[in-house]
Amino acid sequence: MTFSVSILATGSELLDGRVVDTNSNFVAKELSERGLKLRRVLTVDDDMGELVAGLRELAAVSDLIITSGGLGPTTDDLTRDAVASFFGVSLAEDPEGRKHLEEFYRKRNRPIDTNNLKQALLPIGSTIIPNEVGTAPGFIASRQGGPTVCSLSGVPREFKSMFMATVRPLIEAKTHGVEALHRVTLKTFGLPESTVGKLVEGIGLPEDVVVSYRAAFPEVHVVLKAPQSVSLEAHAEAARNAIGKSFIYTEDPSATLGSALHHLLLGHGETLATAESCTGGMISEIVTRTPGSSATFKGGVVAYDNSIKEGLLHVAYETLVTHGAVSAETVREMAEAARTRCGATIGVSVSGVAGPGGGTPEKPVGTFFIGISTASHSFQVQSLYVSERTNVRMYAAYVALDLVRRTVLRLPLPKSYPEIR
Ligand code: ATP
Ligand code: MG
Repeated sequence: MTFSVSILATGSELLDGRVVDTNSNFVAKELSERGLKLRRVLTVDDDMGELVAGLRELAAVSDLIITSGGLGPTTDDLTRDAVASFFGVSLAEDPEGRKHLEEFYRKRNRPIDTNNLKQALLPIGSTIIPNEVGTAPGFIASRQGGPTVCSLSGVPREFKSMFMATVRPLIEAKTHGVEALHRVTLKTFGLPESTVGKLVEGIGLPEDVVVSYRAAFPEVHVVLKAPQSVSLEAHAEAARNAIGKSFIYTEDPSATLGSALHHLLLGHGETLATAESCTGGMISEIVTRTPGSSATFKGGVVAYDNSIKEGLLHVAYETLVTHGAVSAETVREMAEAARTRCGATIGVSVSGVAGPGGGTPEKPVGTFFIGISTASHSFQVQSLYVSERTNVRMYAAYVALDLVRRTVLRLPLPKSYPEIR
């Protein structure tokens, strides 16, 4: 029988849209690592009746209920009372909890008051879960024949730390012997999700290989999962070939296009410089998110106004007048200037019509040009991505990064995204 885990997420801020429930998402991912998934996620208001009813509802289908939030010192923090009521016990001060709170406030030179001390109260019979990164301790409570309830702080950093230290070992002990799944993650860019889906479905995966897709705009991630007993590699290879290996920029689940590109540039001894117009620095921002990016990123210019394109990047006045700022000719000169003026081995540039205004019949909103310049060759790509401003800009930045990746790897340019001139 599978071990059934549910979450009771508490807090009115989760119900009125102020806060996204990342704690449940975190637990779902943790469970999925072990081949499990959450049975239920229930979100309730900071209300005694709702909390107790929620615990009862989940108890009917769960072996373990993890509660998130409501352990703080304020009047809307009701979780410990609700769990005590659910188990039919009262609250009592936990000596370890009190000691922890006194220490916490002493170290910070802050006075402790009775409201703070409320946080040391736990349902009688429960075991404290220390909070290494915050004030409110959590606790584990259970009753013969009923579910175990683990109550954790709602603050995501505290929730994770308490989960890792106490709840995960508990789940591991209960699910010992359950075969963990192994997986292959293929992160792709340059093909629409529907195309990726069709290509992977075309290879006819067996039933014990589960495939899932995640559109993480503007990327599409494919995850293949199978029990350890199934050899996943042959199926993964079939999926790679069906999608086209040049579209897969990494198989590292924690890597991003920016970090993958950084390591690629590093490995090839290449450096990058940017000249950005409609992306307003987004390419540089993505690239510099990766620690150590100074080894591969020289710098760049946000050349928004034509005077900057001309003055700082030496784009010829005639080029701007004859072909316009959004043109293959302009991005060619921008990329070249970025590379030579910044002393990089690769220059990348972008200029486009992000919208909502500024479109023309020849260059409608969503049109953008990317320029790539290296010491030995240069090329420009024209693309049209019809969407709203944020997406056009983001898409253009990704195309630029992907073209740099393809340049370093000497990969062909895909027909799927750009119209190449
Ligand atoms: P505190 O001691 O800080 O009061 P708590 O255990 O009482 O902690 P809450 O008051 O419910 O927790 O929430 C603390 C913070 O964590 C708030 O900023 C809240 O928005 C955030 N938070 C609560 N629940 C979640 C959740 N499920 N996902 C993400 N953030 C959350
Ligand atoms: Mg609180």
